[in-house]
Amino acid sequence: MGASPAHKIHFIDLEAQRNRIALDINQRIAKVLNRGDFIMGLEVAELEDKLATWVGSRRCLTCANGTDALQIALMAYGVGPGDAIFVPSFTFIATAEIISLLGATPIFVDSEEDTFNLSTTNLKQLISNFKKRWPQLNPRGIIPVDLFGQPADYDAINEIARDHGMFVLEDAAQSFGSTYKGHRSCGITGIATTSFFPAKPLGCYGDGGAIFCDDQELTNIIDSIRVHGKGVHKYESIRIGVNSRLDTIQAAILLSKFSILEDEIVKRNKVASIYTERLSKYVTTPIVRNDRTSVWAQYSILHDDRDSLISHLKAAGIPTAIYYATPLHLQPAFAALGYKPGDLPICESVSRRIVSLPMHPYLTIEIQNQIIDGIIGGIN
Ligand SMILES: *Cc1c(COP(=O)(O)O)cnc(C)c1O
Repeated sequence: MGASPAHKIHFIDLEAQRNRIALDINQRIAKVLNRGDFIMGLEVAELEDKLATWVGSRRCLTCANGTDALQIALMAYGVGPGDAIFVPSFTFIATAEIISLLGATPIFVDSEEDTFNLSTTNLKQLISNFKKRWPQLNPRGIIPVDLFGQPADYDAINEIARDHGMFVLEDAAQSFGSTYKGHRSCGITGIATTSFFPAKPLGCYGDGGAIFCDDQELTNIIDSIRVHGKGVHKYESIRIGVNSRLDTIQAAILLSKFSILEDEIVKRNKVASIYTERLSKYVTTPIVRNDRTSVWAQYSILHDDRDSLISHLKAAGIPTAIYYATPLHLQPAFAALGYKPGDLPICESVSRRIVSLPMHPYLTIEIQNQIIDGIIGGIN
């Protein structure tokens, strides 16, 4: 048995957050239970108003999870067979899975090595060869992901989309609360989705998600799709939709957590800056561009001998995680698309070297020092 650390080190510490707001959350849940409006209750509308205002979007429509949010947005754009959607390969499966589920084709894009976000250089190359490589497909949209909490390069992406008549859908599942040139994530491109999965920067105690939309017509379609394709009234069905709503209890929990989000973002940024200051001499630390801020859903470093670093840290009681060990273009689920190793070299190289460190607002300096010492001791 290895030496056991003085305190258990959490990768994400939801317990510390719960201790801070338990009373408020319990009171809010009790109110919902007493009223009994479990579906589309008061807190759902209150949360949607507050989040839309905060990010600077005209409308927020909550739904059952972040994957549904992406799917509903694509359904609202009428995406289906014959359509191609550009997505980063270096992301969670959800970003691309919904494209295939709707019968459309994901076109995987390589990453920037320093921010891990979608490479606009590779995106331009793929678009210029598009007609030759995919003569049967129609390029419809781009789904950039704000990976690990930092927005992608939206000015460049929006311009490329405009030049080619495509939409841009921001996958902000990891970035709620971050900023791009002063605009909050989910208020950057006119349409965005996020996730309230417990481990995300704004998480509930179960599944949850939201779509943010500035366009009135699209908003009406999204609102209809999330409730079985309803028309003016609930039992008129004007299109094929889904059943995807946020529970009122989860909305009540999110209202409580939203009240401390700004403070938690400050705390996350302090933790990140200490990691970068202390570790940049030893490993490749992540870069945040000058015109944006991150909410640090993950703090991820690159190191060539990653696996021995991880074992060393594990023996010292320090948890780590690998996001993502296999880029999507090499996942068995997408084998039919015919990608092979070497097709997207940057994200493939990153996936072999990346490791994420414990990151949450309640990481104390004592524990962080222990983690940092563990890393410095583990790379020699
Ligand atoms: C978590 C996540 C999703 C999906 O969110 P769920 O609420 O788990 O369905 C989508 N995209 C990215 C990038 C994510 O990290």
